[in-house]
Amino acid sequence: YTEGNEIGEFCKEFDKMRVRLKDTILEQHELEKRRKRLIASITHDLRTPLTSIKGYVEALQDGIVKDKETYDKYLATINEKADLLNHLIDDLSVYTKQELGEFALNIERIHSGRLLNNYFNHKQYDFKYANIELILKKPFISTYINVDPYRMTQILDNLLSNAKKYARTQIVVSTKVIQYHLRISVQDDGEGIPEDFIQNLFDPFFMVNKKKDQKEKGGSGLGLAIVKQLTEAHDGEIIVESVLDQGTTFTIEIPIDR
Ligand code: ADP
Repeated sequence: YTEGNEIGEFCKEFDKMRVRLKDTILEQHELEKRRKRLIASITHDLRTPLTSIKGYVEALQDGIVKDKETYDKYLATINEKADLLNHLIDDLSVYTKQELGEFALNIERIHSGRLLNNYFNHKQYDFKYANIELILKKPFISTYINVDPYRMTQILDNLLSNAKKYARTQIVVSTKVIQYHLRISVQDDGEGIPEDFIQNLFDPFFMVNKKKDQKEKGGSGLGLAIVKQLTEAHDGEIIVESVLDQGTTFTIEIPIDR
């Protein structure tokens, strides 16, 4: 009887292991599928501007363009596409380095107020001639955080440049402390993000309106994926709140050094 019981226990354990193994295999399949989708997406994004560059160069070589105005326009388009490629490759390089865990964080204990004042006071110049007002809700919270200052700049740069692309009249930057975490929010009064897209917003290469975002705003869809990776590397979190036609707020939450 005892022996039978032991066999029963063993079978139960074995069953549990089988289920876990099945889950792991399914997870691997899912990851593999994601990786394939990602590569397809990268290939497509790199090929599109290249195809277009080749098209314009061939047109110029064929000598079908006779007037100077069209000639210059073609050259400008080639240049613009090359810039887009450069931008894509830069973002891709940052993203893959991070994905491969090749980036090291140089963590320092930093005074949040000083970090944010330094960063945003400089940024005011970028807004001098823009039609958008950068409103800083001062004083920024003064506390200590353990962060890589360069990576924090990358996070803020990405959020601020997105806000600047979409804001209509103003961007508001504010800070708060909630449950031993420092919250930094960047709020714009832009078009907002449809609810259906929020879930995928931080996926690499995701753009709400790919054609428009890439063409008009020079995006790669990697900015927010980079921000998420970097924030999480700091044991932090990123939160997004958006209301259509009213605006979007991105908040990063970083643990405070107590
Ligand atoms: P990119 O590097 O192309 O800017 P991101 O990953 O930063 O890409 O953003 C992904 C997409 O999310 C953008 O293409 C845009 O459609 C949307 N998005 C990001 N920030 C905002 C914002 N503040 N307001 C509205 N849409 C936004």
